[in-house]
Amino acid sequence: MEHIENDDQFAGLTVNSGVEQPPVVNPYMKKRRRQPLPSPSEMVEGILKGDVTILSRAVTLVESLSADHQAIAQEVIEKCLPYSGNSRRIGITGVPGAGKSTSIDVFGLHVLKDGGKLAVLAIDPSSERTKGSILGDKTRMEKLSIHPNAFIRPSPSAGSLGGVARKTRETIVLCEAAGYNNIFVETVGVGQSETAVHSMVDFFLLIQLAGTGDELQGIKRGIMEMADGIVINKADGDNIDRARLAQAQFRSALHLFPPTLSGWIPEVLCYSGYYELGIPEVWEMIDRYFEFIKKNGYFERKRQEQAQYWMYETINEQLRNNFYNNADVSALLADKEQRVLDNRQSSFTAARDVLDFYFKSLTGK
Ligand code: GDP
Repeated sequence: MEHIENDDQFAGLTVNSGVEQPPVVNPYMKKRRRQPLPSPSEMVEGILKGDVTILSRAVTLVESLSADHQAIAQEVIEKCLPYSGNSRRIGITGVPGAGKSTSIDVFGLHVLKDGGKLAVLAIDPSSERTKGSILGDKTRMEKLSIHPNAFIRPSPSAGSLGGVARKTRETIVLCEAAGYNNIFVETVGVGQSETAVHSMVDFFLLIQLAGTGDELQGIKRGIMEMADGIVINKADGDNIDRARLAQAQFRSALHLFPPTLSGWIPEVLCYSGYYELGIPEVWEMIDRYFEFIKKNGYFERKRQEQAQYWMYETINEQLRNNFYNNADVSALLADKEQRVLDNRQSSFTAARDVLDFYFKSLTGK
């Protein structure tokens, strides 16, 4: 293009001809390629060496909904299985605000003091709705999240509680194969997720607060029956007396419950996660528990029962998925649902019709 400024009358000034609009992407920059997925045996090798990057990738595959990823994940899990099991699996629950993350941070540092490794996993079935889990969130565990021997993973976000729980259980296998000899599984103490956590841990710790007035009420009763230890947090400052009172109440309430299957009598302790008071005492209790159940054979028995339970849970989950993911079944279900809502068909015959249709489609008849 001609530039008028290059005319003699503007001597001393030269305007170069312009360049074309440069591309947005620098052509000289090497394209970054995504790291190819390691083969299942490479993954297993990496996991057994304790390679955290490979462990994280394997966990991502476990959590993935893609059938290809699932196939690789299952192969990796199967190969890691013989190296798993050598850990203490501890479930930690409490209502939001009970102090789970503060406590896991200090409990975690306490167990890591003597060496070993710790994985913190979480089960939060609500995370699908909230698009991201607050449980197992690294920012909530400041000290632990920068510890080289801690692996923190938030709750898998997709799927039903059963699906989320299965993925967490599979992740436990991978973590143990990677040498994590302490596993914490965190969950919120408000719903059914405790039962799922209870079915995958050796020790179930319930974090309670003093002075909320509802210590012994409602849903917590069911959770209390599952607890191997109840710890009352925030026993500090002018809350100490109330915490002690709650401790006495919990102790007497526990007497009313049937004896636990393990023969262990659940203990009730006070502590403060924030001020780090009474932490060793909580862990002495947990140590005592493991000693007790290893001696009386309950440790092994419970793990076997859990493995059996998970086999059936997996079957149930896959059957359910297979049924509900079937497009023809979905269409028929929508129709039948409307009929039931309109009072044109009973719930039972509608269910039978859909199931009959499904079973026939399976056998191809
Ligand atoms: P979470 O929702 O169960 O994970 O609870 P957080 O660990 O986030 O704790 C909730 C609030 O309680 C935070 O503001 C903490 O600082 C506070 N907190 C946790 N532990 C203690 C404690 O031992 N004493 C006191 N006074 N406050 C605590």
